[in-house]
Amino acid sequence: KVKNADQPEFIQAVTEVLDSLRVVVESDQKYQQVSLLERIVEPERIIQFRVPWVDDEGKVQVNRGFRVQFNSAIGPYKGGLRFHPTVNQGIIKFLGFEQIFKNALTTLPIGGGKGGSDFDPKGKSDNEVMAFCQSFMTELSRHIGADTDVPAGDIGVGGREIGFLFGQYKRIRDVHEGVLTGKGLTYGGSLARTEATGYGLVYFVEEWLRVNGDSFEGKKVVISGAGNVAIYAAQKAQQLGATVLTVSDSTGWVYDPEGIDVAAVQDIKEVKRGRISDYVNYRPNAEYHEGRGVWAIPCDIALPCATQNELHLEDAQQLIANGCKAVGEGANMPTTLDATAALQEAGVAFFPGKAANAGGVATSALEMSQNSQRLSWTFEEVDAKLKGIMVSIFHQCDDAAREYGLEGNYVAGANIAGFKKVADAMIAQGVC
Ligand code: NDP
Repeated sequence: KVKNADQPEFIQAVTEVLDSLRVVVESDQKYQQVSLLERIVEPERIIQFRVPWVDDEGKVQVNRGFRVQFNSAIGPYKGGLRFHPTVNQGIIKFLGFEQIFKNALTTLPIGGGKGGSDFDPKGKSDNEVMAFCQSFMTELSRHIGADTDVPAGDIGVGGREIGFLFGQYKRIRDVHEGVLTGKGLTYGGSLARTEATGYGLVYFVEEWLRVNGDSFEGKKVVISGAGNVAIYAAQKAQQLGATVLTVSDSTGWVYDPEGIDVAAVQDIKEVKRGRISDYVNYRPNAEYHEGRGVWAIPCDIALPCATQNELHLEDAQQLIANGCKAVGEGANMPTTLDATAALQEAGVAFFPGKAANAGGVATSALEMSQNSQRLSWTFEEVDAKLKGIMVSIFHQCDDAAREYGLEGNYVAGANIAGFKKVADAMIAQGVC
């Protein structure tokens, strides 16, 4: 009987990591002892809870809340909260598992965790979102703390939700501490956190371009998603001289041959909380199409920034046929395993999310440091640290791959470099 057979995304994430680790484990006895691999795939703790709240009609709604505290070997659990109707225990476990290695790659002392709920903030009033967040935090507050577990945002959890969650935590625990990251700037947030995941993704790809004597200047970039990661990846790529041709949401996608107007996307998504179909009202020369389709647009660089398993084998084949040189994952596990293999076999540089999108959590850890010091750094300071971290992650992945004769395999490099750090800490701490 296969354990966790009803959690396909978790199995997918574990399969990818364990495949990469074979070469490490087989060549070093110490990783074959003390059931290290069996322990690393098992969360330290899973919390699941009822989230009852009252909607604007006075009706009681019930959602399901989760927090998976996966691995605390190198620091307090750290990882986002996702509010989306597709959330279940398997999705949160896959995200928490990925988070362990991602956090290790940042070089900062943070363990791996993830949480969320099947609550859908779309179409809810601010009052309903607040009622939900307060109920969610009423239970979650028992399990988290600035030195224990520090959640952040993810799909469906942005500044508004973090504010409501933080307010309720403070009310229950009576302590103003860095228990959440992605906070507003007036109550402990860090400058550049909003931009960090998207900017970090572009800094990572920029470093690969740089070592190959190239840059973003003049590159055609296709991006999926129109949320936090997609918006700031598009902004930074354009600042570096690229033309971003597409964005998308779960309903459809936009092709703007003149380059995506990031301010328009921000207005639609961040201010009006609308649909990407509205984009053509800002830019009449752009095209809007229902469904999915961004990967068919010819590009030099593709950045999937929406959600898991959104880039399939046929999309990979299309990208290859169109001459795409690199795929950088802004989202977590957006590329299916067969699509990843096809891209790698075709010689497309492939940068996995656990390395390429680590800028968000790295900057969250910088927010924790600022909160502990009761200081706030300037945008330029945080952005410069972020860039340094992304450059370091690129080289950790590159070096680890080379060490095992897998040059250019950044999936293997990321898994190996992240694993070694966590595994060595686990071994040092004994069987626990
Ligand atoms: P947002 O909620 O801000 O945006 C998500 C975007 O993806 C929206 O455009 C959304 O469209 C689209 N999307 C969501 N679900 C689906 C789906 N099932 N099918 C098609 N499109 C979908 O989230 P983020 O930008 O924060 O997160 C995007 C990805 O990046 C996730 O995989 C997340 O785990 C990952 N990530 C985020 C980090 C962060 O700092 N925010 C850090 C590291 C990784 P719609 O509005 O229609 O739902």
